[in-house]
Amino acid sequence: MIKTKSYAAFSATSPLQPYSFERRSPRPDDVVIEIAYCGVCHSDIHTARGEWGPTAYPCVPGHEIVGRVKEIGKKVKRFKVGDLAGVGCFVDSCGKCTNCKSHEEQFCSVRTAFTYNSTELDGKTPTYGGYSSYITVKDKYVLKIKKGLALERVAPLLCAGITTYSPLKRYGTKKGKKVGVVGLGGLGHMAVKIAKAMGAEVTVFSTSPGKEQDAKKLGAKNFIITTDQKNFIPLSGKLDLIIDTVSAKHDFSSYLSTIKIGGTHVLVGAAPEPNQVAAMALIFGRKKLAGSLIGGIKETQEMLDFCARKKVLADIELIPASKINESYERTIKGQVKYRFVIDIKTL
Ligand code: NAP
Ligand code: ZN
Ligand code: ZN
Repeated sequence: MIKTKSYAAFSATSPLQPYSFERRSPRPDDVVIEIAYCGVCHSDIHTARGEWGPTAYPCVPGHEIVGRVKEIGKKVKRFKVGDLAGVGCFVDSCGKCTNCKSHEEQFCSVRTAFTYNSTELDGKTPTYGGYSSYITVKDKYVLKIKKGLALERVAPLLCAGITTYSPLKRYGTKKGKKVGVVGLGGLGHMAVKIAKAMGAEVTVFSTSPGKEQDAKKLGAKNFIITTDQKNFIPLSGKLDLIIDTVSAKHDFSSYLSTIKIGGTHVLVGAAPEPNQVAAMALIFGRKKLAGSLIGGIKETQEMLDFCARKKVLADIELIPASKINESYERTIKGQVKYRFVIDIKTL
């Protein structure tokens, strides 16, 4: 067993605190990673605070994990000790169902073992995430990270990167397309960078006037303040696709009005409360409201290679582990530029 330090939530209302536990020693097909950095995703906050339904405590969040391979099982061929490695939002799946076979392990019809607040395939061993010093993961679910990149800026790609890359690619983002990004936070800023790198013209929809300059620096052409309805009018019927990253309940109608006939508004932001949508906002213009969940291992590797090639990395604020609770408060207030990343050696 591998002694592991971490930060964990012990209830929905108490701050995260240091917690020690043991990771399994490597099985023949396992890789043990010494974690260097872990991003702070808003999903960590929703989960730690029980906002999406019951959470199993103690809960060690974190699914934007990068580090170095410390140990490998005897059958592992893809990694050697010392290699850079990444882990995203899930650590196992059945590997045999139709969804696994079509590289969408996040939708495994048997069980996707999510990186935290989930269980291994046995249905009982809890999984603990990346706010921790080590993680043991089956080789097939570990991503390869190219050398020579700022590793702390790679970490957020493992969730924020793939979650935005996947729908941008699926809905045909390329030169000549117009993409809207709603909410300029962790996911939103990656969506802007990736859409721009794919060749699209990007419009950011934000509640924060102070983010305009940053949005333009990140690659957006237009910046719309959403608190004034008038600001939507010039964009009426102009966009091919919207990636909506907002973490709280909001009205979709104004955004839908900016989409072209047949265009799509993709929800990746996972507000805990349900939303109402006016049928007319979709009917007039044959518009589609869609959802998207992270991406499979193959697509995550493709995204990491794309981002390495295009030099697309997250803009981050590196924090010591002791600042985790403060980083949650600032993320909720939208005061993050644009992802907190924990320096795991400070655990
Ligand atoms: P984040 O960094 O907190 O960014 C969310 C942004 O949404 C904020 O920066 C803010 O941007 C905007 N916003 C927040 N509250 C709002 C409100 N009440 N009304 C309008 N805009 C608001 O969060 P994140 O880590 O990017 O995650 C965003 C959401 O995606 C979370 O719900 C998370 O759980 C979910 N998520 C989903 C997936 C998936 O696979 N589908 C994966 C990862 C995360 P402005 O200041 O620009 O308005
Ligand atoms: Zn996430
Ligand atoms: Zn499966």
